[in-house]
Amino acid sequence: MTNDHTMTRRSALKFAGGAAALGALGSSMPLGVQAAAPMLGVSRPSVYRFKLGAFEVTNILDGYIQGNGPHPTFGNNQTPEAVQAFAKSQGLPPTRMENVYVNTLVNTGKELVLFDAGNGKVRMKTAGHLTDLMQTAGYKPDQIDVVVITHGHPDHIGGLIADGKPVYPNARYVFSDREFDFWNKGENIPDARKPNRELFMQQAVPLGEKATMLKGEGEVVSGITAIPAYGHSPGMLAFRIESNGQQLINWADTANHYVMAIQQPDWHVSFDHDKEGGAATRRRIFDMASADKIPVVGYHMPFPSVGWVEKTATSYRWVPASYHFNL
Ligand SMILES: [Zn+2]
Repeated sequence: MTNDHTMTRRSALKFAGGAAALGALGSSMPLGVQAAAPMLGVSRPSVYRFKLGAFEVTNILDGYIQGNGPHPTFGNNQTPEAVQAFAKSQGLPPTRMENVYVNTLVNTGKELVLFDAGNGKVRMKTAGHLTDLMQTAGYKPDQIDVVVITHGHPDHIGGLIADGKPVYPNARYVFSDREFDFWNKGENIPDARKPNRELFMQQAVPLGEKATMLKGEGEVVSGITAIPAYGHSPGMLAFRIESNGQQLINWADTANHYVMAIQQPDWHVSFDHDKEGGAATRRRIFDMASADKIPVVGYHMPFPSVGWVEKTATSYRWVPASYHFNL
């Protein structure tokens, strides 16, 4: 019986001769010594595409931010100790955190629909990669047919205009009418959001003329409809995406931390315009998505930012997708 490991007498002799030749070389060039591989730094997955019925959905990592937290951003109405203890109990660092920015691009077969415009290249060094990575993913900015703005916060509108020109020159725009009016009118803007209002006036208002203003549950294109998700911002919209009977919810910033905002939906989030409204929206959308086991994409969920929200005995939890969409 022979197999790949069986050495014939002839091949054994050849092997021995080869070893002798290497031995001779070894006198001038030691074997097994080479330059150490350089350290390359952290590498992150940043493009992820999956199928939803006849649609293709691509999530792209615009970037990330790291800082102190989760408290006081999450559990804003709790003591720091309570939030730190909860973070630890979930295996999270208690006083440092990272948040990601993830754009979702849907190819319906007829239209290429981009949700939110990312931070743009000038806000921070660790974000603003959307347009570069879009090309890695196989799309060019001038192919985008529709840009949907879920809400007017800087990480969602910062990439609409660059150097005075629209980044997506052939797109039409979709805004929530309620959100657009809030920022455009500029009444009752909290002090902390005044720079955000300035940014909205620069980045979004010039595109208003080409925009569709959605009311509540309006349609973006066939298969994509809005779900009111007010609270995090005055007029934020989530979206239901449906193709061939398969559904996906893009919940935008309904939850902006995969543990803190999901397992503790009632804890206040400092980013929320209306703290109680944000909590009520979290519960309503978590109930909607968990009852029918509808998968979710979320702008601040850990990359690749697709999974399920599951009801637990006491609240909810995030269940990341693995190979589900590949089968
Ligand atoms: Zn956001």
